[in-house]
Amino acid sequence: MLKDKVAVVTGGTRGIGFATVQTFLDNGCKVVLFGSRQESVDKALAKLDEINPDYAVEGMYPKLTDEAEIKEAFATIKEKYGKIDILVNNAGVAEDKPIENLSVEDFQRTIDLNVNAIYVCTKAVTEIMKDQGEGVILNTSSMVSLYGQASGCSYPASKFAVNGLTKSLARELGPANIRVNAVAPGVIATDMVAYLPEEVVERIASTIPFKRMGQPEDIANAFLFLASDMASYVTGEILSVDGATMT
Ligand code: NAD
Repeated sequence: MLKDKVAVVTGGTRGIGFATVQTFLDNGCKVVLFGSRQESVDKALAKLDEINPDYAVEGMYPKLTDEAEIKEAFATIKEKYGKIDILVNNAGVAEDKPIENLSVEDFQRTIDLNVNAIYVCTKAVTEIMKDQGEGVILNTSSMVSLYGQASGCSYPASKFAVNGLTKSLARELGPANIRVNAVAPGVIATDMVAYLPEEVVERIASTIPFKRMGQPEDIANAFLFLASDMASYVTGEILSVDGATMT
């Protein structure tokens, strides 16, 4: 579905990002995965090489909120591959502290990675996509972007902002033939929820009609559809992939 396309996936070293990288590779895409450190990038690349040594994948670790580093990274990718068809803004951090324990620094950290990084990466790739006359930008939102959550308000605040960026940029960039969509995952079995005690997982699962958490591949497949030409008239959407979780 993505034969000969070139994609960048932020937060591609594990969880939803890693599954998205693998799914895109399995569908003929060339992928540059972004991680936060060389060590995690190398580990992810080694894992992919074990799965399939023919995968067309490489890794980088620019600071996602640093405009100069991001511009340079995207210029390097464009120089090597000639284009960037797809950007998946997936890197993110969660927060669950109640507001009295949530410091200004905590709040800022969530907003920096979950919102400002999307702005910086999207701004840089938009220049390239406008020049090439097409492109697809995909964001990782969350089901909490619809309902909020009872603790850790910086996280839902950041994901409401992701939806705002998605809907607004879809309207702004549509005339340039750039589609912008988001996937809003429910509770997905990744490191982000791995710290939860068993009884909490069971309580969460009991609110999901399927009685189980989602898997990273469930989200990767939604990204695959939205990245592909099958979604050529889909833009400005926040696609819930949450098993109809009742929060
Ligand atoms: P994860 O913790 O497994 O992965 C997070 C990714 O973000 C990692 O690849 C990590 O390298 C990257 N990252 C973290 N801090 C970074 C930094 N400072 N700089 C660069 N990269 C950084 O979690 P996940 O569940 O795979 O999360 C991926 C996305 O999905 C996030 O945006 C998250 O908010 C969203 N999400 C997850 C769930 C869930 O239940 N797991 C639900 C809704 C939304």
